[in-house]
Amino acid sequence: MTEELSAEKQKIFDAISANYTEITENIARAAEKSGRKYEDISFLAATKTVEPELINYAISLGLKKIGENKVQELLSKYEEYDLENSELHFIGHLQTNKVRQIIGKVTMIQSVDSIKLAKEISRLSVKNGVTTDILIEVNIGREENKSGVLTEKLDELIEEISLMENIKIRGLMSVPPICDSKQEISKFFDNMYKLFIDISSKKSDNVCMDFLSMGMSDDYQEAILCGANMIRVGSRLFGARIYR
Ligand SMILES: *Cc1c(COP(=O)(O)O)cnc(C)c1O
Repeated sequence: MTEELSAEKQKIFDAISANYTEITENIARAAEKSGRKYEDISFLAATKTVEPELINYAISLGLKKIGENKVQELLSKYEEYDLENSELHFIGHLQTNKVRQIIGKVTMIQSVDSIKLAKEISRLSVKNGVTTDILIEVNIGREENKSGVLTEKLDELIEEISLMENIKIRGLMSVPPICDSKQEISKFFDNMYKLFIDISSKKSDNVCMDFLSMGMSDDYQEAILCGANMIRVGSRLFGARIYR
């Protein structure tokens, strides 16, 4: 590596480091405002398009969770992630025929929204002798062509999945619609929190409402104020994405 190149890389590392500090401080502030502590909030970095060297640098700063949203990309980067010091989550739309490729590789699949998908996760988890943690993805904005279960179907989905082997529901996840204002998006976050509390209070076997995963680069502080305990931040940490 030439000196010039490494200076360029150093600049990127420095930017990630400054961003990491800023985000963790914002998390701490929002957590305190909502009666919690920094440690109560899981900071997951959405790592799509980001090269493993930069991801691992963020892990060296203290990042504990990373998430990919495409199976192909996850597999191509898999050998390089520092998974001794972080957990790998799958956060994107997952096709049933691709489950096989990530079972045993990911700690959690955050984007389960159908019986069919859950059944395949269960079947392959049994076969591989693992238990897979999942979140149920909710289409809280009722958007067409968007992943996630509709709220009126949520109870039934949870009930059916809770009976399946080697799959464990650990909470809910959502990607709300793009909104013009913080108030507007906070309504979606509030509605997710209500669902989360409702389901928690039912105390079904095999269902643990440990995680409410919502909030991204532009709105993670609002999400925490509304009750999120896991946020998924990409561009605010790594910079604007460059799609190749
Ligand atoms: C990319 C992505 C994020 C993060 O997006 P940013 O706006 O860059 O923070 C969060 N969740 C999912 C599911 C994503 O695919």
